[in-house]
Formats: sequence, C-alpha cells, structure tokens
Amino acid sequence: MADLAQPAPNLNVIAIDGPAGSGKSTIAQALAKRLELPYLDTGAMYRSVTFAVIATGADPEDAVTTASIAREMTLQMPENGDIIVNGLDATLEIRGPEVTRAVSAVAAHPDVRSELVSRQREWAHRRGGGVLEGRDIGSAVFPDALTKIYLTASAEVRAARRAGEVMDLDYDTVAADIARRDALDTSRQHDPLRRADGAIEVDTTYLDIDEVVSVISAHVDRAIAARAD
Ligand code: C5P
Repeated sequence: MADLAQPAPNLNVIAIDGPAGSGKSTIAQALAKRLELPYLDTGAMYRSVTFAVIATGADPEDAVTTASIAREMTLQMPENGDIIVNGLDATLEIRGPEVTRAVSAVAAHPDVRSELVSRQREWAHRRGGGVLEGRDIGSAVFPDALTKIYLTASAEVRAARRAGEVMDLDYDTVAADIARRDALDTSRQHDPLRRADGAIEVDTTYLDIDEVVSVISAHVDRAIAARAD
C-alpha cells in the first residue's frame, strides 16, 4: 500500500501558493469547481491549530506544546466550509483577529508543519489529487504536483481585497497585518513562503476571477497533455 504521508507524482495535484490577499482561496475554489477536483484550504488547518492553542491558553511561541496540540487535534472540514476543531465549531473564530495575529508564529514551528503536511498528503492520496492552496504546497507538500501556481498581486490590491472580506477592520489595519504576516511567512526557517521551483507566477492585480481561472486551467490542460506523451 502507498505511504499516504509521502508526496506522489501520479496524483492530480494542483498547488496554489502565494501571500495573503493574492486571491488564492477564491481562485482555488473556482478552479476546483471547474476541474471537478476536491479543494483543500491549508491555511485553515494552521488557523485551526492556532484556535486550539488559544483555547487551551498555550503560548503560540511554544514549539513543543503547539506541536503536541497539532498532533492531538481532531479537525473536520466538510464541503460546506465549516471548520470543526476538537468537536467545536470554529468556522468564524479561525478568521478572527486573535487567530490571525498568532497564526504565523504557530505555523513557524517545524513539528506543527510536519504534522499538517502529512495530513495534507494523506488527504490528497485518498482522493487521487485535488486543488490545495497555501504557502508551501508546491515547494514542500507536493513538489511534484501536476501544476504549480504562484499567485501575486500588488500590496495595495491585496490589502483592499482582505479589507473587503473582513468586517470591522479598516484598510490600514488590514494592510499592516498582511505586511507583518508576509514578513514572518517569507522569513521563517522552515518551508518559508516562496515561489517553488517550476511554479508559474500569475499576477492577479488586473485580472478578474474568470480570467485567472482560465489562465491556470490552460496550464493544467497542457500539463495533462505533456504527462500523457
Ligand atoms: O491562507 P491564510 O491566510 O488563511 O493562512 C494563514 C497563515 O497560515 C499564513 O499566514 C501562514 O502563516 C500559515 N500557512 C502556512 N502554510 C500554509 C498555509 C498557511 O504557513 N500552507
């Protein structure tokens, strides 16, 4: 039997990485629908660990405790978008300011990452592939993905998109949070955010959702044709 915790070249994995507000979630969901593949938001998994860390009163900087919370966490992510962490509905809380403030610290711990990476690989193996979005999908989780995309957009457009999604927060607050998380995510030691080798960069600043999905779909079609040769 295949080792479900390993990457595998024969899966239909589409890796979508990029910084906060680059359009990953919207694009990855629309792409998954178009390609009829399952979709996984790996950021929601790091947010879920962070929710569990906060719920137990642990320190997000504590590498040992956060890793053991990650290993023991039960996580349900049904297709309707709900997030159930250790039996509690955390759908709203994982997007709230407390989790958002602490998530990059939790995500920097290598043992937290290795636990979630093996869950992500197992998820894809069980389904024969899928569209996975995050920061390290093309570089660390599935370096042999069928298609790797690195989404970017100008800092102003990214902040405006996030400010539109998050109620109660003004543009300046959101822009500062994005800049802080991008700095932490790109500078951390373990699997930092970066454009993976072989990833195609798509700048979404001036493109609408349908345009981006069409560009990526064309790359996927080409990759499938190349694999068949
Ligand atoms: O995508 P989202 O903004 O929800 O991700 C929240 C945080 O989770 C990121 O800022 C990053 O610190 C972490 N993350 C990660 N690796 C991933 C996905 C998210 O480190 N694959």
